[in-house]
Amino acid sequence: MDQLIFEKEIKINTRDALIIVDMQYDFTPGGSLPVEEGDLIIEDINQTANLFKKNKATVVLTQDWHSQNHLSFASNHPGKSPGDEFTSEDGAIGPVLWPDHCVQNTKGAEFHNDLKIDLADKVIQKGMNPNVDSYSGFRDNDKNSETGLRDYLNSKRIRRIFVCGLALDYCCYYTAMDGFEFDYRVYFLVDLTRGVNLPEGSIKNALENMNKTGIKFVNSKSFK
Ligand SMILES: [Zn+2]
Repeated sequence: MDQLIFEKEIKINTRDALIIVDMQYDFTPGGSLPVEEGDLIIEDINQTANLFKKNKATVVLTQDWHSQNHLSFASNHPGKSPGDEFTSEDGAIGPVLWPDHCVQNTKGAEFHNDLKIDLADKVIQKGMNPNVDSYSGFRDNDKNSETGLRDYLNSKRIRRIFVCGLALDYCCYYTAMDGFEFDYRVYFLVDLTRGVNLPEGSIKNALENMNKTGIKFVNSKSFK
């Protein structure tokens, strides 16, 4: 992989938004789809969110929000297990199936208790269509419907977005890539994310694709 180049000394301004992806119980250790060390980033995410608010920038939370019959769940495919490879024709589901997670109004779907949700200006829910997954905070995987995030950011005249949260190689990655396609300047907060690496290699692929695309990498300590 080409060396990732990190941006240094970023000054946050009012047209910046921090997008905190899916910091929910089910994605942290003890949840149904835990990302290793997913809880260890929360404190620094809180501090970063605080910094954004101090600089009058915007903070957005995304929340995976599925019905029990969601087709990304292996349990809704007879004979399949979580982690099995599966891609639906239109790419709406896949490339793997997941354990049941973030079912609406369950504890697993709640934001982690340590996350300072009062710092958020907006919560964007995604994945409500049972037939289509929504890794990206911007839109469904089949690209047919948006979540409202773009409209919200545009209403606040946001130019740069900074993506962090869980998981690096899925929801953070897709959010960053869509953000780039939607003409935002996208920064990926590498120290404020962790990945599932399923299938093997997906973290490396995600970082590589973002690097090639023109997404910039940044460390939370680089904010001035
Ligand atoms: Zn999900």
